[in-house]
Amino acid sequence: MVAKINYERCVGCEECVVACARDHCIHLEESTNIIVVNESTCNNCGACVKRCPFRCIDLVGDIGPLARKPSMVATAVKS
Ligand code: SF4
Ligand code: SF4
Repeated sequence: MVAKINYERCVGCEECVVACARDHCIHLEESTNIIVVNESTCNNCGACVKRCPFRCIDLVGDIGPLARKPSMVATAVKS
């Protein structure tokens, strides 16, 4: 299980980054301007899920590389 971002709804507010107690686990990638979760360090605590005001984070099982297609990625506009 790991936190997954719904990029169609994410606005880049970084509330999830503030909520996460683990360093470098979730951050706004400056080069792409999207929220990125480090799947190797995410411990599935759910703090970011509860904090997101737009309900665009879910804790999901490993859906595999084929499901992580580029069309799932969109730019989050930093407010
Ligand atoms: S809290 Fe939600 S809307 Fe804000 S950056 Fe995180 S995932 Fe995106
Ligand atoms: S589920 Fe917990 S550890 Fe994983 S990104 Fe969200 S706040 Fe961080």
